[in-house]
Amino acid sequence: MLLVMKFGGTSVADIERIRNSAQHVKREVDAGNRVAVAVSAMAGHTNQLVSWTREAFPEYDPREYDAVVSSGEQITAGLMAIILQSMGIPARSWQGWQIPLVTDASHGVARIDRIDGQAMLESVNGGEVAVVAGFQGVSPGNRITTLGRGGSDTTAVALAAALNADRCDIYTDVDGVYTTDPRIVPGARRLPRISYEEMLEMASLGAKVLQTRSVELAMARGVRVQVRSSFDNPDVCEPARAGLAEKRGTLVCDETDMLEHHVVSGIAYAKDEAKIMVLKIEDKPGVAASIFMPLADANINVDMIVQNLSEDGRTTDLTFTVAAGELPRALQVLRDRQDDIRFSELRGDTDVVKVSVIGVGMRSHAGVAAKMFHALAEKQINIQAISTSEIKISVLVSAAHTEAAVRTLHSLFGLDQS
Ligand code: ASP
Ligand code: MG
Repeated sequence: MLLVMKFGGTSVADIERIRNSAQHVKREVDAGNRVAVAVSAMAGHTNQLVSWTREAFPEYDPREYDAVVSSGEQITAGLMAIILQSMGIPARSWQGWQIPLVTDASHGVARIDRIDGQAMLESVNGGEVAVVAGFQGVSPGNRITTLGRGGSDTTAVALAAALNADRCDIYTDVDGVYTTDPRIVPGARRLPRISYEEMLEMASLGAKVLQTRSVELAMARGVRVQVRSSFDNPDVCEPARAGLAEKRGTLVCDETDMLEHHVVSGIAYAKDEAKIMVLKIEDKPGVAASIFMPLADANINVDMIVQNLSEDGRTTDLTFTVAAGELPRALQVLRDRQDDIRFSELRGDTDVVKVSVIGVGMRSHAGVAAKMFHALAEKQINIQAISTSEIKISVLVSAAHTEAAVRTLHSLFGLDQS
């Protein structure tokens, strides 16, 4: 098999950890698998680099920001290659520009345009482990770029697609994707498999196992992704073999490859939401547009939206959510447009949480929402806003109810460990 093995920051946090991660690589090489490795920076290093650039000059040139923050991965790629070599495994490090992994020029949040994997593939086919510095690429103008925080996952998936790898193993500090956050529900279960779409919802809703963009890419290119723990003893893990399901971790895969068929696969929650209430606006065509157009122009994403029934037929209230970090800016944008919108009051509230039930089974099962709302009502949990997609129902509730809501829904949909 051709494998891409990605090691996150905690898996390369120091030399001992890199050595342990290298043992996982050795196991696969010894079993005859061809391997490309992608590494993150040592845990905490990228944060340090980011804060140095800000300290140097808050209005820094984004091209130089990328020159600085991409460097953490250069270090771990070199160290991993050295350690593999010390174990008798031929290995070579590759930086983004050496591959080359070509991105657009959006520094700090660059998108991958193409990977010319030819030279690397030749090296891998010749029996060398390619150790790729994650998170970084090169722009058409030949400057170093970075892919956004958490971007090494995307590097790994993009490599797997470019090399046509059989699987992309993401080694991290948890042993897979869980039905919900085990810190809230101790009886949460590891999912042996999860579909791309469910994983996308989980990732964008705060389950921080994979960068959202990496899941989108895996789905678009059909890359099978195995999330697993680098802290598992490398010697007792089975090497990857074609046609054999992995016993450890969670396989992120196509819906048609799912084994179990639950209606609901997981419960996610996101605390970084803020609620905005625009009170007593005129109930007439164009009012919603007068609120949401300026927000869109300011690049502020709106998520859940509720418009109340107008009691007097003339005025109404509108409630919606934005990312908590955008709240001050969103309120300012609306205040600036008060002449158009003409609200009687504007309120912001960050004391809310978005709790979601996710499952591809919802496509074919009716009544999930009703069951969910009923259970929350029984617990006296008030729902402030609702949004749905084909495979997800989200409710906004007071942050104080986070644990109660997650626990209630986790048992309601039969996800507790038996
Ligand atoms: N080192 C980068 C970060 O901390 C990229 C990554 O780890 O995926 O965001
Ligand atoms: Mg990560």
